Amino acid sequence: MTQTADDAADLLIVGAGAAGMMAAITAGRAGAKVLMLDGARTLGAKILVAGGGRCNVTHFQVSERDYAGSTPSQIRKVLQQFPVRDVVAFFEALGVELKREDTGKLFPTTDQARTVLNALLQACADAGVRILHPHRVDCVSWDASSQCFIAESASGNVSARRLLLASGGKALPKSGSDGAGYNFARTFGHSMTSQIVPALAPLLLAPGHWLLALSGLALDVELSLVLPSGAPFKFPAPQGAISVQGALLATHFGLSGPAALDISRHWTHARTIDPSVLLKVNWIPQHREDSLDAVFVASKGVSALNVLRPFAPERFARAILEVCAIDPNATLQQLPRERRLALVRALVAMHVVVTGDRGFTYAEATAGGVPLDEVDLTTMESKLQRGLYLAGEILDVDGRIGGFNFQWAWASGFSAGKSAAGVAVTSK
Ligand SMILES: Cc1cc2nc3c(=O)[nH]c(=O)nc-3n(C[C@H](O)[C@H](O)[C@H](O)COP(=O)(O)OP(=O)(O)OC[C@H]3O[C@@H](n4cnc5c(N)ncnc54)[C@H](O)[C@@H]3O)c2cc1C
Repeated sequence: MTQTADDAADLLIVGAGAAGMMAAITAGRAGAKVLMLDGARTLGAKILVAGGGRCNVTHFQVSERDYAGSTPSQIRKVLQQFPVRDVVAFFEALGVELKREDTGKLFPTTDQARTVLNALLQACADAGVRILHPHRVDCVSWDASSQCFIAESASGNVSARRLLLASGGKALPKSGSDGAGYNFARTFGHSMTSQIVPALAPLLLAPGHWLLALSGLALDVELSLVLPSGAPFKFPAPQGAISVQGALLATHFGLSGPAALDISRHWTHARTIDPSVLLKVNWIPQHREDSLDAVFVASKGVSALNVLRPFAPERFARAILEVCAIDPNATLQQLPRERRLALVRALVAMHVVVTGDRGFTYAEATAGGVPLDEVDLTTMESKLQRGLYLAGEILDVDGRIGGFNFQWAWASGFSAGKSAAGVAVTSK
């Protein structure tokens, strides 16, 4: 493909995912000529699979505390430039009404991710954005003589005065986001975090683990990280100890559901600091050891199985009693004190050995990437290369389950598109 003078773009965007499309629409509306490249044959794969095909566009309440990776103050600076109310208004103006569910997650009222993708593609077209795909970029560079960025590809080279890297992280590599963008950023001197690992990934248990037999069972739990001594695992300040609450789903390979996904990136990180780190599960989060033991002590004549009925399904109750070698029909007063306390600990402070996570193929996000220190957070312009912008999952920010990752993509994409267009249009 040869780019003609007529085609010359002000802004070249690599990656037509959530961040790239938001940036392209914003820049196009501001008057910039935008050319967006994507390696995928079908655009928007992640938008289409998101939220189980319904696309959890954002969350009604988003703050920097919903994210990990960079510091809260860095993340806040970007989020505040395009807050949730602006995202809701943006989609409403495209004809996509969002509804809030009990969890606080916002979905399109159609319950169809396709509604979101079609609206974004239409908005790109309306803003005059040209999208080339499949157009997989192999490398990018700055050409000092033409004062342009060049994106090289088997389909041909294209160039522009500004370049936005919105090529995502490494999660769901078959969607086209396989980490190639990290090398593009490195070309311009950017560093990467010491680790780039799966986030929001299911966790693995050893074959034969008793929880595997409970596949399909979901319980609301509290998860935290502990050392074998039982002491809480603490990350260096300011992060400290981590705990998450939510549904935990037992599966044939290990643990999934929002709670497992949310803690996965912290477990992976903790394991690199201390490989002995364990997952602590409180199966009855409304209780601590003392309060649950008080319930058991007050239930002398009740059987072990019946005392658990208000707290957990029978299938789970029978399994945990078996793990603790307790006869389900034994009354609580028949249980020796040590046995009763062992059951209490198994219920509110069970230590679980996690053997790994399911990797990028099953992860919903990436922990790590280009450090935010290297980006001007009011414009998303690189501090190392003028005219280069970064947005979305390529950066060292990952959110918890609930629409927070898209919110990061919308906010960083909006900011990058707005500033890149401002510079491009005024320098024409
Ligand atoms: C299964 C799943 C479900 C999810 N559900 C939700 C949800 O409901 N809510 C939520 O908030 N988040 C969800 N996420 C996370 C969310 O999808 C991502 O955080 C978000 O899409 C990141 O946007 P992005 O634009 O930065 O990157 P991406 O969406 O990954 O887009 C990057 C684009 O760059 C292209 N690209 C990469 N390399 C090249 C190259 N060399 N040349 C050309 N193009 C290239 C890719 O093809 C891709 O289209 C989910 C993720 C997964 C995997």
